[in-house]
Amino acid sequence: MAATLLKSAELWTMGESNQYLESGDVLVADGVIRQIGPRGTLTVSQDVHTIDLSGLILLPGLINCHTHLSLTNLKGLGNNLSLFPWLQQMGAAIAHQDSGDVNVATRAGLSELLRSGVTCLCDCGPNGPGVVAALGTERGLRTVSGLMVRSSWFGRSVAGNLAGDIAATEELLTYWSQRSGLPSFFLGAHSLYTASPDLLRNAKRASRTLGLDFNLHLAECAEETEYIRQQYGVSPVVHAERLGLLDEFTIVNHCVDITSDEMGLLADRGVRVVHCPASNAKLGSGTARVVEMRERGLLVGLGTDSAASNDDLNMFQEMRMAVLLQRAYYCDPSRFSALDALRMSTIDAARVLGMSDRIGSIEIGKLADLIAVETCLPVRQRGVTGLDALIFAADSTRVRMVMVDGKLLLDDVRSGGTGLVQAG
Ligand SMILES: [Zn+2]
Repeated sequence: MAATLLKSAELWTMGESNQYLESGDVLVADGVIRQIGPRGTLTVSQDVHTIDLSGLILLPGLINCHTHLSLTNLKGLGNNLSLFPWLQQMGAAIAHQDSGDVNVATRAGLSELLRSGVTCLCDCGPNGPGVVAALGTERGLRTVSGLMVRSSWFGRSVAGNLAGDIAATEELLTYWSQRSGLPSFFLGAHSLYTASPDLLRNAKRASRTLGLDFNLHLAECAEETEYIRQQYGVSPVVHAERLGLLDEFTIVNHCVDITSDEMGLLADRGVRVVHCPASNAKLGSGTARVVEMRERGLLVGLGTDSAASNDDLNMFQEMRMAVLLQRAYYCDPSRFSALDALRMSTIDAARVLGMSDRIGSIEIGKLADLIAVETCLPVRQRGVTGLDALIFAADSTRVRMVMVDGKLLLDDVRSGGTGLVQAG
């Protein structure tokens, strides 16, 4: 693959050092970041392919740590419901989806993610992880997907077969180990209220045997806490702890309704957390106390959750929502910045998904997952960085270039706005 020089961009690397360059160049070759430096300082060959990013901001590709792509065609359903009745309505709608509907929804979701600068996503069903891996790879995006096992759905038992789910996951691992490096997998459970203690214990054990992460919705709202207390006499986090679900190989989504001590317990266990502010707000679940979580040492990534509870998959909007809600919750603008939100969508998101050795920052040797973004502000005031403009005025953001593994998936810079590059 020819070398590509990305030139003259405002650069936010999100790496350990040199986080910001007012005007910087990045050299990419064979899908890997080879050189980074101030404008005009890199050593490049004469036949290098150059893309001029003057006026644009170059960032690591955004990582959406939690979504459900097959629900993309259910936007707007249950608009005024809280989590449990909303999930019941979703369950009924999902029962009517056939494989064609799932494919259309998944493709629509992937396109929406790509258009908004997402280069890697973690999909949590309810449909097969193989669909997401195949369609994501076809679109050129990096995916993490897995089964979220269940044994019941709000009073109705669900026919489940953990042995079959484990076999299906093993099959996927074997299939993709011989192909493209874009997809990876986990094995999870939907939640504490839709999976029996035995199923949760066994699924967690199986994920360890397979060497995969365990993924779970946890403590999403007071409704969940009340239900788990009625059933088991303890809070969701304590129930999960007693079942042996909490360790450094577990990713939990939401954690809105947890105590400060429970945050400490999750941090001690090395559990990674995904924050989904828009979905939590829309369903009236509340606001996770992310500032406190991070102060207590928890690693937190950002996710949109499904388009059915959001109702979009735009990570710039999600970052804006995260900043605004944390500031509103704490009545303090100083404890959560635009850079914090970007960190939760790049390097910390990569750490949450166990991929920070490869992606999440613009650093030499990392894979070239990169995006170039325009802020359509008429004038940027002195002292306002491009990053502030991106996050606080997310409505005026336009993604102009998306690159995954050094391959251009969206190129509005050279094409003058014709847009998506054909996958292939
Ligand atoms: Zn979810």
